[in-house]
Amino acid sequence: MTLEEELRAAGFTCTGCGECCSGKDNEVMVSPDEIDVLCEAAGLKPEEIVEPYPEWIHDFGATYTFGWVLRRGEDGNCMFLRNKRCTVYEHRPHICRTYPFMLDGDKLLIFECPGCGGADTPDSEQLEKDLLARREAEDKEFLLTKEQYQKHSMVLGSTIIFDSRGAHPHKY
Ligand code: SF4
Ligand code: SF4
Repeated sequence: MTLEEELRAAGFTCTGCGECCSGKDNEVMVSPDEIDVLCEAAGLKPEEIVEPYPEWIHDFGATYTFGWVLRRGEDGNCMFLRNKRCTVYEHRPHICRTYPFMLDGDKLLIFECPGCGGADTPDSEQLEKDLLARREAEDKEFLLTKEQYQKHSMVLGSTIIFDSRGAHPHKY
């Protein structure tokens, strides 16, 4: 089966329930490029929309993590969710565009989602393009972030967030 055929077979139509944008397990990783787009769209600064990916590593006398996630409200919902609707829909990140799907190499993974199980996936062509674009962007981000990590000399007691653009001291 081609990727598009697999997507069709999943029978996905988003019901607009908003579950994937809500709750404490909702963790949307975003790249620096995606942060730029969202800041521009929302008229906000990076520190107002993201926080460091919350799995901190303690090593070499320093504390560090890789990447950023969108900020959430006290209810755990994404800060851009209002009345079950995305307020930055046209500018939403790759993860949001492709949920409940992701590619692991060439393998299509499907997460539990109320929108799956129908007869067809009307947006399968667009989803295929979005999934391929996401994989390419994530692979690039991974390699560039790894480079930044490898060339950085850890300073004792420092707290750092690595991404494709550099090693950022933790300040928010
Ligand atoms: S992608 Fe799934 S969980 Fe998210 S809003 Fe659509 S139906 Fe609900
Ligand atoms: S950016 Fe939009 S689509 Fe993505 S989690 Fe937030 S509200 Fe949902």
